[in-house]
Amino acid sequence: MIIRVLTLFPEMFKHTLGASILQRAREKGIIDIECINIRDYSDNKHKKVDDYPYGGGAGMVMTPQPIFDSHRVLMDSIDAKSKPKTIYMSPKGKTFNQSMAESLSKEDVLIFICGHYEGIDQRVIDNLVTHEISIGDYVLTGGEIPAMVVIDSVARLIPGVLSHTDSYQEESFYSSLLEYPHYTRPQSFRGMEVPDVLLSGNHSKIDEWRRKKSLEITLRNRPDLLKKADLTPEDKKAIIQLTNSL
Ligand code: SAM
Repeated sequence: MIIRVLTLFPEMFKHTLGASILQRAREKGIIDIECINIRDYSDNKHKKVDDYPYGGGAGMVMTPQPIFDSHRVLMDSIDAKSKPKTIYMSPKGKTFNQSMAESLSKEDVLIFICGHYEGIDQRVIDNLVTHEISIGDYVLTGGEIPAMVVIDSVARLIPGVLSHTDSYQEESFYSSLLEYPHYTRPQSFRGMEVPDVLLSGNHSKIDEWRRKKSLEITLRNRPDLLKKADLTPEDKKAIIQLTNSL
């Protein structure tokens, strides 16, 4: 997958994209990521990239010219057959979730536009943007952290990035349930024990325990997810018991 990020702060991406699983995926050639500084494309002699909002109001708005021009240069460098998607990170966008991550992970090219200040001129959104995505109902200072969140969650779903597909198929949200708890060595840590069932070697009992814990955590923290989950009659019975005990 080719990922390009249009940003005023490319340096913010260095550590996130240059470490751990994402860095290995880049080394393996599974993802090719580059950040482009929007300011480099400003026609303004002082490389200005923002201006006052028409109609008044607080803050500055990112001007359209450097974004249109940097986007044009990018599009010209990409094979049009790959149908690049342009994502504007914005609190006004659709809220990002795992199924959006799965769908984006099947694309060949993703271009991210990171806003700053009060955001970007609406004409960029109307003409260049195919997806407007929010990472949650809160406002950050810029689109860089949101873009990194989306890139990280999308990249790990691309085949070959994680060592086993199982790594994400059992994770939270994959089946509309939150994941069960994990334990590792030591078996006894400062008087706190690992649940016996996990040491039993009985895989059907372990699966049963994990499923029940998944249901319990989802019921407690995100009951809204249960509406979308694929539940067996045993799951439904367990949910009734758990609800009565909460
Ligand atoms: N004035 C905007 C509003 O009220 O919707 C907020 C602008 S915010 C201070 C600056 C930039 O941060 C936005 O253009 C966007 O790129 C990014 N941003 C802030 N919060 C975000 C969120 N929850 N999800 C995605 N991007 C966000």
